[in-house]
Amino acid sequence: MAENTDNLSQVRHVVLVLSGKGGVGKSTITTELALALRQSGRKVGILDVDLCGPSIPRMLSVGRPDVHQCDAGWVPVYTDAQKSLALMSIGFLMDDPNEAVVWRGPKKTALIGQFVTDVSWGELDVLLVDTPPGTSDEHLAVLEKLKNHRVDGAVLVTTPQAVSTGDVRREITFCKKTGVRILGIVENMSGFVCPHCSECSNIFSKGGGEELAKLTGSVFLGAVPLDPQLSSSTEEGKDFMQSFPDSATFNLVE
Ligand code: ADP
Repeated sequence: MAENTDNLSQVRHVVLVLSGKGGVGKSTITTELALALRQSGRKVGILDVDLCGPSIPRMLSVGRPDVHQCDAGWVPVYTDAQKSLALMSIGFLMDDPNEAVVWRGPKKTALIGQFVTDVSWGELDVLLVDTPPGTSDEHLAVLEKLKNHRVDGAVLVTTPQAVSTGDVRREITFCKKTGVRILGIVENMSGFVCPHCSECSNIFSKGGGEELAKLTGSVFLGAVPLDPQLSSSTEEGKDFMQSFPDSATFNLVE
């Protein structure tokens, strides 16, 4: 397929979602951000290039559809009839989703690069890019392919513990070195509100993300509590925003 950077020409904002580690909720926050943006009337796309665990298709309940091609490239999968949420995941293209784990770097970066340029997004307000955890060749491949297109910045996801915020510091260094603006930090799994007595327990400590934001001069976008309903809705692919319309308010773009 021919490289086609025009595929991003009608995409108004590109936002990367980064985390220092896996399992901190990067894909969950990407999904919730997309749903929140859609709820506010925007057309949103998610590009899931997390080869370590392309979990967005499950979270949005689209399964493993056949991906079609048009002249401009791959046609994204739409989660709704209005085509307000478009999705392309590396998981769609693999026979075995575990396969990519054993790929060598060049194969990964080549596929990721192709992904960035060869999806026919059409008109979008925001494209969220769910990246693999850490800072690797894959991240550089994404930025290299986006060099002709303005990247608005990155949202960094962390849990409150020092073990995660420490890794996010490396993300911050990565953003500074590569010239990616840090839009802000989200602290995920921040406290647990008991559904019975409504008392908040800080299972993993609290405030690490906010503290890191202060220390590094970044914007603190908000804290998302550990929520069993959020967990089960992402497992089952239910739209969390439908039942909790005010649950996540991120002042991200515009
Ligand atoms: P990552 O993309 O960082 O690897 P995921 O978004 O896949 O992490 O989340 C890992 C697991 O944690 C998923 O099962 C998800 O449902 C759960 N999870 C993430 N954030 C929350 C939260 N705030 N409350 C409850 N469960 C969560």
